[in-house]
Amino acid sequence: MGGDQRRAIPREAEVVVIGAGVTGCSVAYQLALRGKQVLVLEQRGICSGASGRNGGLTGAGSALHAAAGRAVSALTRENLRMLQEDLARELDDDFSLCLSGSLDIATTEEQYAHLVESVRLQQEQGMDVELLDPQEVRELVPVVSEGILGARLSRDAGHLWPFQLVHALANGARHYGARFVTYTPVTRILQRGGAVEGVETPAGAIATGTVVVAANAWTPQLLPDLPPGALVPARGQILVTQPVAPVLPHPFGTNFDKEYGRQTPTGQILCGGYRRLDENEGLGLYEERVTPPVLGGIARCLTTLFPGLGPLRVVRAWAGIMGFTADGLPLIGPYGEAKGLYVAAGFNGTGFSWAAATGKALAQLIVQGISAFDLTPFDPNRFARGGVAWENPFTAGERNNPRGVVSGA
Ligand SMILES: Cc1cc2nc3c(=O)[nH]c(=O)nc-3n(C[C@H](O)[C@H](O)[C@H](O)COP(=O)(O)OP(=O)(O)OC[C@H]3O[C@@H](n4cnc5c(N)ncnc54)[C@H](O)[C@@H]3O)c2cc1C
Repeated sequence: MGGDQRRAIPREAEVVVIGAGVTGCSVAYQLALRGKQVLVLEQRGICSGASGRNGGLTGAGSALHAAAGRAVSALTRENLRMLQEDLARELDDDFSLCLSGSLDIATTEEQYAHLVESVRLQQEQGMDVELLDPQEVRELVPVVSEGILGARLSRDAGHLWPFQLVHALANGARHYGARFVTYTPVTRILQRGGAVEGVETPAGAIATGTVVVAANAWTPQLLPDLPPGALVPARGQILVTQPVAPVLPHPFGTNFDKEYGRQTPTGQILCGGYRRLDENEGLGLYEERVTPPVLGGIARCLTTLFPGLGPLRVVRAWAGIMGFTADGLPLIGPYGEAKGLYVAAGFNGTGFSWAAATGKALAQLIVQGISAFDLTPFDPNRFARGGVAWENPFTAGERNNPRGVVSGA
């Protein structure tokens, strides 16, 4: 690091946020909005982690969480409301939010049975979801396969431009005085007498009484006492086609959300999934590298689910690292015994359904000492208390097929 940048690094801050993905930028924005003096430290560039490498799908609720359904629903619904209302109004940039509704398409009897049950439960909880038969799906998406068994239409869902949202949040945070220092990793969180006292970086220490770890997949490196397996890196891959005329009006998921995609406003089709064809199903990997078996699987998914697309050229592919948790729920709240240490990480494959509301919930907690949301199921200390058993419903492999994991939210 050059001397100028070294000198530019502040020596103290009221709050240090580690990580400038969508979560860190949202936390920084909400804290700065509430008058806190915030410093964000990022090991690479803003939005260089999973936040800059994802599909851009967003929505409220989850059909894959049996426990914690209501808390998941409350936070993700607030997230969607904030994207539509507060952030659309407060932030300077248009992050291309399009609430078109999304389709969860069943191609096997098992997937269809899961859809039927989850639609019933979600409707009971007041969610705007509907089960469509194959003909109804074809009316919405004429290119879809003749072989599908049906789909769930979730109206509280859609897609956005992730990069633009993250930078809008960072700019919003800067507007209220937050500072961002990039290419500066935090190497250690410093504690003394049961409280946080700062962070260590290659450019020296920074004093602070409050640290928020928003480092997602890299969280275990900063919290060495997090039980092994509680939060693990998970590599995901995406391919993008050449632009075509509008054919996919709704983002889609299939096979318990393991495969997913959307058409961007500029016509390109993004499709991801098939982690089960990666080394160790993508789990434990930090290398942002695409692999032919996974890309082949994704391409097959696209062409078999939507044969009417015809031949399409793939123009780009990339990989990103997510933070998967043992129970599929994020870690949001105070961490361990040290006063002033908080975590917001482990958003699995759905961070854009959480980040805005998570920033607000955590800022309320830090500034007012209490959050308006029920964060109990997301307690970062739950694994230290109860142990780690891998039951992640998003896990790609068939060994973790979420049979029976059905909930309304
Ligand atoms: C291929 C793929 C597809 C996806 N599709 C979707 C989707 O369609 N919809 C959806 O909602 N989600 C999707 N996700 C998941 C989503 O991208 C994540 O849940 C979300 O971006 C998490 O945001 P974050 O800010 O918590 O983490 P990240 O964006 O990973 O940010 C963490 C940041 O912390 C930084 N950092 C780490 N360690 C340190 C350190 N020691 N010091 C300083 N900085 C540090 C990293 O460099 C990184 O920038 C997908 C992810 C991938 C990879």
